[in-house]
Amino acid sequence: MPGEPMDWKAHLFLGAVSGGLLAHLFFGFDGIELASYSALSGMCALLPDLDARKSKASSALFWLAMAVAAFLAAAGFPWWQPAAIAMALLAFDFALRPRHRGIMHSAAFLAAASILAYFFFGLVAASAFSIGYLSHLLADFCLKI
Ligand SMILES: [Zn+2]
Repeated sequence: MPGEPMDWKAHLFLGAVSGGLLAHLFFGFDGIELASYSALSGMCALLPDLDARKSKASSALFWLAMAVAAFLAAAGFPWWQPAAIAMALLAFDFALRPRHRGIMHSAAFLAAASILAYFFFGLVAASAFSIGYLSHLLADFCLKI
């Protein structure tokens, strides 16, 4: 797989734009809903580069795990859901992190993670995750910026 990892800001931008388009065209979102969806898919577009040791996303993983857990706990989810997500992120970081464009850059990982996201968060949030994540894979493999 040739090419360097794309700049994380480019991934953030592409993910947010893809998410915004989907939110508007498919869900008919506007205003704050559109902005939230777009922000979520933009952040999810950074996730695949967690398998790059020196990526921005990777260095921020610990804080992301803590923030997600705190957010979900504050939003009233059962305690084990944020705890499970935080532990999964941290376990991935410490035990499994492969080199860039490893397992997290595969369609199989995207499919599995999307199903998990659907199970935990429902269709809207899961689709924001999927579109952001997919935009990253497409950008890495097709554009080679
Ligand atoms: Zn990548």
